[in-house]
Amino acid sequence: MKQNFDKLMQNELEGAQHRRLLLHSCCAPCSSHCLSELAGKIQTTVFYYNPNLDCREEYEKRKHEQVRFLQETGLADFLDVDYCREDYAAAVKGLEGEREGGARCAVCFRLRLLRTAEEAKARGYDYFGTTLTVSPLKNAQLINEIGFEIAEKTGVKYLPSDFKKRGGYLRSVQLSEKYGLYRQDYCGCAFSKLAREGQKLSALWEKIGLSSPVKARAEEVWKEYGAEVSALPLEPWRKLSYEEGLNALKAALSEDGDGMKLFVAQSLQALGAKREYAARDIGEDVFFATMAFLSRFINETYERTGCVRWVWGWWFPRQLSLHEFRLGALEFELLEDGRVAVHIPAKCDLTDGAVDSSFAAARAFFAAQFPAYEGAQFVCSSWMLSPALQEILPRESRVRQFGARFSVTKWEQDSPAFREWIFPSAKDAAIEDLPESTSLQRAVKKHFLAGGKLGWADGILK
Ligand code: SF4
Repeated sequence: MKQNFDKLMQNELEGAQHRRLLLHSCCAPCSSHCLSELAGKIQTTVFYYNPNLDCREEYEKRKHEQVRFLQETGLADFLDVDYCREDYAAAVKGLEGEREGGARCAVCFRLRLLRTAEEAKARGYDYFGTTLTVSPLKNAQLINEIGFEIAEKTGVKYLPSDFKKRGGYLRSVQLSEKYGLYRQDYCGCAFSKLAREGQKLSALWEKIGLSSPVKARAEEVWKEYGAEVSALPLEPWRKLSYEEGLNALKAALSEDGDGMKLFVAQSLQALGAKREYAARDIGEDVFFATMAFLSRFINETYERTGCVRWVWGWWFPRQLSLHEFRLGALEFELLEDGRVAVHIPAKCDLTDGAVDSSFAAARAFFAAQFPAYEGAQFVCSSWMLSPALQEILPRESRVRQFGARFSVTKWEQDSPAFREWIFPSAKDAAIEDLPESTSLQRAVKKHFLAGGKLGWADGILK
């Protein structure tokens, strides 16, 4: 029968001011409301025993926040034991594949509550309890049933609770904000972390427009290798040079023929970059537009070859390390020499208005976010800057107008790099066999047949 555990707790606390409670806490945010609710009603010691946490770093991070919260509020004493990951691993053996909220969680609750009760008994506390019931995602009925069972077994009284009641969960969110507490977005174990990451990746891929077959393949790879990829220390590599970081990541990923493990790993890194965007107060619109680099290139490879392959991972560290941003039509890369490189995404809007507003957005963005680049010189390296195009394309051509914005500083007339962009399906074809599907292709082919060159050029924005 469903019971009102919140009411039971209130009854139990009447006249309990001098009693002692050992309260298991999973993290500072969850404990914040529970402790303010208990303040003055019972003498509380927080017990930090969470062997379920996926790694020591997370364990220490949550513990640090718990201690800080208690120091700042004085709401309870603190007691902890070492991080004993083995306790959890042994307890949930065989239940690894359970969904969140299933049999594995019941075992996890029992493990933490039993240790709390044993510790309470050994130290002479009157009650043991837990903050776990503040989460709307956890089954308070089950947690309380386990608590009462353990009380019977150990002989220590259990303090029932349903801390999320009477606005408790919302209050914990408000208190976390007030004290600036670190709020993790997964329950704690590696399984819950993986599940949460999977949800976030799906949402990212959806948002940036991965085509259906590509998304299906990416999700398949995540399902098969997600645990392996997620266990890698993805963050520190982003502080290395682009090449070193990428090589370290590739080496850790082992066999990856189609590059899809790298795609998944870089997508996870993108989620890390999202936190940096938020910390810098850069809008989500800029984040998603920038990360759409992933979908643009992998979708394009699939359309061209019919295979889902990731071959553009070598460029992506720029976006991941917050050195390249898409701002309107164009992409802008912060160069080490203090200049800003302009990149032209395929199929972008090259109308005068779109290009003007993209440059204006970039100037404002860099002034606000990267003051060292305020007023920086814009440079571009592209086939679009080839002086030949000023001769062979009509005045109204967007490509010609874009190229004319730059003063050319270098022209490599024999560079074949333009072929990948103008003739992607016929990169190596003889001049006579080049396709003529677009007016640009027709103009360039005619120019070649007449003995002209196109090449690649560098320029500075006038
Ligand atoms: S999801 Fe949470 S409660 Fe369930 S097993 Fe993992 S850490 Fe424990």
